Amino acid sequence: MTVLVLGGAGYIGSHAVDQLIEKQYDVAVIDNLRTGHQQAVHKKARFYQGDIRDKSFMESIFEKEAIEGVLHFAAHSLVGESMQQPLQYFNNNVYGTQVVLEVMQKFGVKLIVFSSSAATYGEPKEIPIKETADTNPESPYGETKLMMENILKWCDHAYDMKFVALRYFNVAGAKLDGSIGEDHSPESHLVPLILQTALGQRKELLIFGDDYPTADGTCIRDYVHVVDLIEAHILALDYLKAGNQSAVFNLGSSAGFSVKQMLDTAREVTGKEIPAVVTARRAGDPSTLIASSEKARNILGWKPQHTDIKAIIASAWNWHNAFPNGYDDTKNE
Ligand code: UDP
Repeated sequence: MTVLVLGGAGYIGSHAVDQLIEKQYDVAVIDNLRTGHQQAVHKKARFYQGDIRDKSFMESIFEKEAIEGVLHFAAHSLVGESMQQPLQYFNNNVYGTQVVLEVMQKFGVKLIVFSSSAATYGEPKEIPIKETADTNPESPYGETKLMMENILKWCDHAYDMKFVALRYFNVAGAKLDGSIGEDHSPESHLVPLILQTALGQRKELLIFGDDYPTADGTCIRDYVHVVDLIEAHILALDYLKAGNQSAVFNLGSSAGFSVKQMLDTAREVTGKEIPAVVTARRAGDPSTLIASSEKARNILGWKPQHTDIKAIIASAWNWHNAFPNGYDDTKNE
């Protein structure tokens, strides 16, 4: 039986494909390559280029492959962009997921592990954030993730489709051998931006605000290593295969680091100066987001191994050194 990975050429999806193959799963991948990289997809996975909103394309894959479960990473994922282009986000994320579920229902596929987000919570009332906290998304991106969770809930109710929604906090790092990593264009995430500055590709890091109510004034986030994050997806798939109920889990390391702490750690790891200047706050950034991941640890048996922030940054640095210009650039040789 086959695991179908939607968005398997993206940063997180490609790490999932890689770990599934290493664990001897049979894997098929769908990606439209709008932001993904085919080079990131493990050679042993069967790759199909296409869009999840294209129903006849999706049906053709479900006809060809004996799909047992779906890992769904295919989505637009930038908070700022979603504020400017909300309809694009509702179309790709919400409508795209609807098509996926329609095709799953038609072909009798009943298990799905879904990439959700801490953005479903909005500004938290309590830290660390538990899964029972209120959900008040503050961006179209977060709204789409919450809507998709709700669609899954009703599909479970009506069609007995079982889902695990994994609410990610800040995912960072790369496969430990440096062969796959994080390559967005344009880049907007903190760790790759810091490391591109270390490589001299950017003049300086812009720190978005130092007047937050935190110890050093900069935003605090919970960084989880991509390798640990994917481990939780495979545990979630096994949990569903064992006949368990649908559930929502936070995935974070349960520790918070400020932007300045991340920068200082990266200076230590890389031995580079990494110039930085403070600029205005970025719209929509809550001051502190830290997960309680007790539920994933207790129910899924998740044991994140790479929680040390230095190790997370070091693994990302390893990838950035091996692929300073990302996947597509021949200058990497
Ligand atoms: N950040 C920053 N400068 C940048 C990019 C990000 O200061 O150039 C901050 C941002 O305000 C947030 C943290 O770094 O507090 C993580 O941002 P990122 O975009 O990586 O992830 P997000 O928290 O939006 O999921």
